[in-house]
Amino acid sequence: MKLYNSLSHKTEEYVPNEPGKTAMYTCGPTVYHYAHIGNLRSYIMEDVLEKYLRYSGLDVTRVMNITDVGHLTSDGDTGDDKMLKGAKREHKSVMEIAKFYTDAFFEDCKKLNIKTPDVVEPATGCIGDFIKVISSLIEKGFAYEAGGNIYFDTSKLDKYYVFGDVEEEDLAVGVREGVEADGNKRNKADFVLWFTKSKFDDQELKWDSPWGVGYPGWHIECSCISMKHLGEYLDIHCGGIDNAFPHHTNEIAQSEAYLGHKWCNYWFHVHHLNTNSGKMSKSKGEFLTVSLLESKGYSPLVYRFFCLQSHYRKSLVFSYENLDNAKTAYERLISRTAALLDEGADGDVDAQALEKLKDGFTAALDDDLNTSNAVTALYDVFKADTNAATKLAALADFDRVMSLDIIENAKKMSDGAQDIPKEVEELVRRRQEARKAKDFALADKLRDEIAALGYSVRETRQGTEILPIK
Ligand code: AMP
Ligand code: ZN
Repeated sequence: MKLYNSLSHKTEEYVPNEPGKTAMYTCGPTVYHYAHIGNLRSYIMEDVLEKYLRYSGLDVTRVMNITDVGHLTSDGDTGDDKMLKGAKREHKSVMEIAKFYTDAFFEDCKKLNIKTPDVVEPATGCIGDFIKVISSLIEKGFAYEAGGNIYFDTSKLDKYYVFGDVEEEDLAVGVREGVEADGNKRNKADFVLWFTKSKFDDQELKWDSPWGVGYPGWHIECSCISMKHLGEYLDIHCGGIDNAFPHHTNEIAQSEAYLGHKWCNYWFHVHHLNTNSGKMSKSKGEFLTVSLLESKGYSPLVYRFFCLQSHYRKSLVFSYENLDNAKTAYERLISRTAALLDEGADGDVDAQALEKLKDGFTAALDDDLNTSNAVTALYDVFKADTNAATKLAALADFDRVMSLDIIENAKKMSDGAQDIPKEVEELVRRRQEARKAKDFALADKLRDEIAALGYSVRETRQGTEILPIK
């Protein structure tokens, strides 16, 4: 498989450290609010990567942290504390907020068929590990104490900006919001490993440390949690592209200074989901969550399909119009599969034809996880010159990676077609009449009533299609 590596800026053959295995780390969510569908785009694409590596026969161990302490709104060392902000907003304790939004995150993941990583570790459970690594960094001369905080000294590294040149302007991460620059730092790019002095006197979660009572910085969490579970050599580190700097840059700095050798070979960065007005955010515009999409009648798997239709290294624009197109395409995929089921899945699978179909699918994903072409490979199945049993076998096989519940939903549709409630049929009939009379307002109203009963209705060249909404 070829993968683009943000570290080398090249597409490279993926070769794990240990043959047959893969150690994979993912930056988990900061659990101060619901995940927006942009965050979830990253997790969907990382899920596809993990599943494809497994599909290819690798024994993958995937670890994810839960950031429940230390992440400030600027991604640097200033700004508000995200967890504290969430707790204040909801008049709850930080741990209550963390528990609530961790559960909410995994519920969203479940709806999107995102597999839970093998290890999920909240940062607050690893304070001893952070202290151990920070102590060693001080001993080795890579960290210093100033004004009560412990900082990483970036001037001790041969190369700090490993992902490319960073504009001087970007270094102002910490001073962006009119916050005063931290005068304790020896170098502009230095970052906090452990806070004992911060502007958050009301910080709820604090721990004793050799440097005083305080709490860890965000970056050290991921390095330590990864090393704790995956050892000194990491194959793939994932995250959204915004994490490359400063978060991942700092992770590399401190991990390699601590270990004394290269830490992670491949960096997989997912590009952003944007809205028409720019970067998606939890505070500006409509707060787009999985639940919001569901309340508007979109199945979470339609959103997964929408993400799979484009390459992870291209930014993707979200609009309801684009999502509607994905919905139509997804429903077509399911109804064509239902037609195959109706044709009969009992025949013998033609092994040669199946291999040929698989070749198209793996060629797409071997090419830097080109899910867009993998979706095309799904549609190619219907065109193939083979029997229904072989086509269904191919779809089931590809769905081990795509996780679109293709066969399950097609079965539901095929079974459901026989028992559409009379009430729904009547509404559909009235809607057809309204459309004939060009009363589209009434037709839309009836469509909503049909949706409220759990069905979607669509006019196709073959006639009216009534589908149960998942
Ligand atoms: P956070 O919960 O803020 O720590 O972010 C969780 C993950 O979502 C990180 O990997 C981010 O890089 C990623 N992310 C943040 N915004 C977006 C976006 N608009 N599109 C895709 N991924 C994002
Ligand atoms: Zn991280």
